[in-house]
Amino acid sequence: MNSAFYIKREAAKCVACGLCLPHCPTYGLLHDESESPRGRLSLMLALAKGELPLSDKLELHLARCLDCRACEKVCPSYVSYGLALDSARALIEVAREPSISPATRSVSILQWLVEKPGRVRTLGKFLWLYHLSGLQWLLRTSRLLKLFGFAELEENLTSPPTPKAAVEIYPTTSKSKGKVTFFTGCLTQITDQQTLISTIRLLNRLGYEVHVPPDQGCCGALHLHSGLPEKTAELMGQNIKAFTGNTEPILCAASGCTATLSEYAKYRESDESSDRFSSRVTDLNQFLAGLAWSSDIVFRPLKKRVAVHNPCTLTNVLRQEDKPYALLARIPGAEIIPLPDNSLCCGAAGTYHLTQTRIARQLRAPKIDHLRRLAPDILVTSNSGCAMYLAAGIREAGLAIEVMHPVVLLEKQIQNGTST
Ligand code: SF4
Ligand code: SF4
Repeated sequence: MNSAFYIKREAAKCVACGLCLPHCPTYGLLHDESESPRGRLSLMLALAKGELPLSDKLELHLARCLDCRACEKVCPSYVSYGLALDSARALIEVAREPSISPATRSVSILQWLVEKPGRVRTLGKFLWLYHLSGLQWLLRTSRLLKLFGFAELEENLTSPPTPKAAVEIYPTTSKSKGKVTFFTGCLTQITDQQTLISTIRLLNRLGYEVHVPPDQGCCGALHLHSGLPEKTAELMGQNIKAFTGNTEPILCAASGCTATLSEYAKYRESDESSDRFSSRVTDLNQFLAGLAWSSDIVFRPLKKRVAVHNPCTLTNVLRQEDKPYALLARIPGAEIIPLPDNSLCCGAAGTYHLTQTRIARQLRAPKIDHLRRLAPDILVTSNSGCAMYLAAGIREAGLAIEVMHPVVLLEKQIQNGTST
């Protein structure tokens, strides 16, 4: 990855019009040009040209960026802000002193865990035992988690699922319409297993045979956004290889992973296999909304209020934020309401809420206030990280709102559906 080249190329497109500023959550909170997309692009450019040395201040301005890419969506000059930011973080990672703060330690451990699928499976078993054995209660009531930088991360965990053996092919349960491949993600298998189960059941019910390539691994987002391009390239290569050999769509339910998978080609220029891979990647909501649903799929009415959260990756990268609404409109009786200020990031932003806890909480607080006022029964979101972070905020506020992926609710409401 030629970091300096990407920064110079993208920053050169910026005409400093400032149209992105009102859309930037950190500029809105901190009212500082250096915390805006335009200001950060100037800092990145100066760093790439060697005009500005790396300093704690510069590093902090770029670390405080959520990488939500709301600026990219509204930019009239088509600045690929995300690419510039990831490139700047890669430059910084090479130049900076290693950090051993509790927050960066917990992010490094997470990165190490997701690098190998076997480590994620072991973590799943450990968390299951941890929850069952009472150790979770013991550590939560002591100060040990805080001391080692895991309090914020652990707070987002609820009951981990019972570990399950991997299955490669899930045959259709209806008249066959074809085959799809499914990217299950790494940590999602532990943190949001229900979404994976509901996705497979729904696709099978709609007539699709679901293939889950066994050699797939983490999408690379955690490493990419932390300035670790070599490891990211390794993870990307592993997934490209795992999905080679067929041409079916690669579906993914978690919008953060889907966004990264869809941009492999952008980060691996002149690599045809990346182009082919990324062109097959399809957001699950988008795929489902584009299907002609058979009339024998009937939904049970739901007399409930359902709030919809639009994750930044679904809105600003995949640009499919309308699809969950189109799908949920199939459920008779359900009152579907968008969460106000949906264009603003909730603060989760991958590992951001672990490293920039204060700003993340400031961004989550208004979302929780909206939920308190609207009092929905259910909150749906297509990003597993946002789901965990919002659910933790909902628990903390003492609200009784279930949080789930839209596909979970859809599958649950299908008559004779198999959901528990
Ligand atoms: S909208 Fe685009 S061109 Fe305008 S200041 Fe922001 S990044 Fe630069
Ligand atoms: S990515 Fe988000 S937080 Fe970062 S500069 Fe753009 S709008 Fe602001």
